[in-house]
Amino acid sequence: MLRQYELVDLVKSYDPDADEEALNRAYVFAMKKHGAQLRASGDPYYSHPVEVAGILTKFKLDCNSVIAGLLHDTVEDTDTTIEEVRSLFGDQVATLVDGLTKLAMIEQKSIYTKQAENFRKLLLAMSEDIRVLLIKLADRLHNMRTLHFLKPEKRTRIARETLDIYAPLAERIGMQEVKSELEELAFKELYKDAHDSIVARLNFLREKGSDIVPKIIETLKKDMEENGVKCVVTGREKTPYSIWRKMQQKNASFEQLSDIMAFRICVEDIATCYQALGIVHSKYHMVPRRFKDYISTPKPNGYRSLHTGVIGPENTRIEIQIRTYEMHEIAEKGVAAHWAYKQGQKAEGKNFRWIRELLEILDQASNPEEFLENTKLEMYNDQVFCFTPKGDLIGLPINSTPVDFAYAVHSSIGDTCVGAKINGEIRPLRTVLQNGDQVEVLTSKAQHPSTEWERFVVTGKAKAAIRRYVRANKRDQFIVLGQEILEKLFKGENLEFSEKNLVNVLPNFEAESISDLYAKVGEGLVTGWDVMKAVYPAYKQSKLEKVVKAIKVPAFKKTKKKDENPLQIEGLIPGMAMHFAGCCHPLPGDRIVGIVTTGKGVAVHTIDCKVLEKYSNEPERWLDISWGKIDEAETYTGRLKIMLSNEPGSLGEISNIMARHNTNISNLNIVYRTVSYFEIMLDLDVKNVQQLEEIIASLKSCKAVSYVARAN
Ligand code: MN
Repeated sequence: MLRQYELVDLVKSYDPDADEEALNRAYVFAMKKHGAQLRASGDPYYSHPVEVAGILTKFKLDCNSVIAGLLHDTVEDTDTTIEEVRSLFGDQVATLVDGLTKLAMIEQKSIYTKQAENFRKLLLAMSEDIRVLLIKLADRLHNMRTLHFLKPEKRTRIARETLDIYAPLAERIGMQEVKSELEELAFKELYKDAHDSIVARLNFLREKGSDIVPKIIETLKKDMEENGVKCVVTGREKTPYSIWRKMQQKNASFEQLSDIMAFRICVEDIATCYQALGIVHSKYHMVPRRFKDYISTPKPNGYRSLHTGVIGPENTRIEIQIRTYEMHEIAEKGVAAHWAYKQGQKAEGKNFRWIRELLEILDQASNPEEFLENTKLEMYNDQVFCFTPKGDLIGLPINSTPVDFAYAVHSSIGDTCVGAKINGEIRPLRTVLQNGDQVEVLTSKAQHPSTEWERFVVTGKAKAAIRRYVRANKRDQFIVLGQEILEKLFKGENLEFSEKNLVNVLPNFEAESISDLYAKVGEGLVTGWDVMKAVYPAYKQSKLEKVVKAIKVPAFKKTKKKDENPLQIEGLIPGMAMHFAGCCHPLPGDRIVGIVTTGKGVAVHTIDCKVLEKYSNEPERWLDISWGKIDEAETYTGRLKIMLSNEPGSLGEISNIMARHNTNISNLNIVYRTVSYFEIMLDLDVKNVQQLEEIIASLKSCKAVSYVARAN
């Protein structure tokens, strides 16, 4: 463990003006407060904050951050209060420590809810002061280094969270070294077998080719010197985790990944970078599509470098990165490289736009699982760069579409986009964008986000915005439906229906407003009957049980799911969601009834469907509906149960009958078969119930058919 004077010396080595006295006080304070507490390793607990502070000195962070590192667990795990920290160490340290203190856990909440709420708090604190994240990363790094002392299930959870959240966060702020170490540690924990086999393979290759890395370094150095380029060349194997990810992305075996060695040429200035690149490319064969210029187009996290893949010295496929010394410093240390003894900085400017975007997603997500999923997507490093018509650069994850692009530019553009011109040509919204595409988003005020988009967008921002819109829109439908249900129910019983009456019973249903109550009734979370009983407690229950009379509402046109045409059903409220029940497959001509379901709008059943028995005690769920004008071209699924003799050609006869009736078999299922007969379920595309009855008649006249009926 780092001793007190060693820590002070470390800080003073890069910040001679550090407040030595405060550092000493913080060290002693943490030690006293954590007292006899022990870590899982058996070490005294205070060794943890001390090690975290030590990691922060590697980042060369300012004195207040190091103090906050020493104190980061005191408020959470000891009797220390934030006020105490504030009075002893000042506002800045107190704010940092508060940002790092997890929320008090509420018992009933799921692990995801806890995780999401704590992540939310961390993000808010980060947006105020990015140093909170640096300290959090140091904390996580030390916990990961000492992970093996914990119980297995706890280890798995922490490693998963590290891989999903903290490693991407480290990458997002350009801290390559921290990101790699976190990934390696989590990889070893989560995929031990994969990790061990990659390490074993690397060892084997190393022994076989013994000293190939130094040889290649020497050759590259000589190449540069001969052309008058002064440089430092380094080489290394890629980390097991990055090899594993590559194997997964490319679906390749280890043997196919020949470029497991990466070399770096560091030079004085940018012009020399391109000169060095020219030397490499003129001497070695370039591997197509491996060249990337992150100097002219830096990554969103500020990373700059030239990357190229060549068949290098020793005839080995290698990756070469070329950059200046300054770029290298930033590439390894990220924001911390700019940080050396600088005071707190708000997350402002374009470099921290992503933090605000994460917070935006968080405000739009309806539940913690959705939030975590969307933010995970958002944090993965941008890989495709596209341009607006004005030439602004937009970085997006790979496989992004014009809809992602539109949302990245502005939420309002995403919400109203109808099409896109990519490099001047009109393209569908689901087109996958390529590096360098110029994208012009076409918008229309009449457009709204569509659930279809959700299938192809990849950014968390787009996903969250679409879901939010769809949710709000559904709610509107449920409000209309709920109001209709209640009005119909009250009027049918000759009871006065007024919003004034409803206001009094809102608390009974945990509704915040009248619309909220309507929405709950419409969604089926609260029954109309319960509302009536609450408003008129004295009203006789038996009278409620009679089926309510039909109401007259305008005919309604509903677009069914994809590949299906619109149909008309009368008796539904405009805008109401409906679907055909899978149990009875209603056909035009059947007598039908609508059932208000929980959360899925109205289900249409045939009047003799057995499922309806379930709803016999809930008359307010029943809707009197009928078929409207039916489009001749429209077909519906009719399901038949057929008993067929088991002999050659009997199935052929059936399909001949279907052909004669000009109908299509969409599904055939053999329910069971014996030596002499088998029973099948047949789904047919038919126009209406008459057509199905004609088909049944023909089947009955067929010799091979011993029994046929509509399946119900
Ligand atoms: Mn800690």
